[in-house]
Amino acid sequence: MTGQRPSKIVCVGRNYLEHARELGNEVPAEPLIFLKPPSSLIDGGESIVLPPQSAQVEFEGEIGVVVGQRIRHATEASAIEAIAGIVAINDVTARDLQRKDGQWTRAKGFDTFCAVGKPRVGAMTAAELTALEVVTRVNGEKRQHGKAADMAFSIPFLVSYISAIMTLEPGDLIATGTPAGVGRLDEGDIVEVEVVGVSMVTNPVAAPSV
Ligand code: ZN
Repeated sequence: MTGQRPSKIVCVGRNYLEHARELGNEVPAEPLIFLKPPSSLIDGGESIVLPPQSAQVEFEGEIGVVVGQRIRHATEASAIEAIAGIVAINDVTARDLQRKDGQWTRAKGFDTFCAVGKPRVGAMTAAELTALEVVTRVNGEKRQHGKAADMAFSIPFLVSYISAIMTLEPGDLIATGTPAGVGRLDEGDIVEVEVVGVSMVTNPVAAPSV
């Protein structure tokens, strides 16, 4: 995980055009954000547990940002300076419940629904952030491949935008949205999200437990 338990996990929805379209949506005019609870966090190697309330649990491989400084109303330049590291995140989602509920707290909030790899710590330039890529594999087969350059809203813009809503604290995580190719997870699958060359998280998928 990230060393320091986050006070919050802020996620971005519909930040890649092709993913928005595959679920029948458009990219919003402003970033669409939601929260996952810290209780959803697991490390690499821990099981993603399928909850009995859902019949359609899906992976969402994402580029994650670890916040390193307390920031509020940050400019894009100071947002970049406040990034402590980049991390692979699997924003696991109960897609059926997401559709059913309208808002996403239940669909995104189950225990084990936020798998986070070890971060690569260190300062990054805007150009390095734009060059990041994320790949998701299920049972070794590539299912998603997204590039930060294709995001509707860039990583510095997102960090700045979120910091104008809520104070970001050291250790907070931002999941920057998933590219096209999301799909189902079943018991026994092995799912792996890699921010290419930077961070990776691999998890088995386990049967429902009550
Ligand atoms: Zn997501």
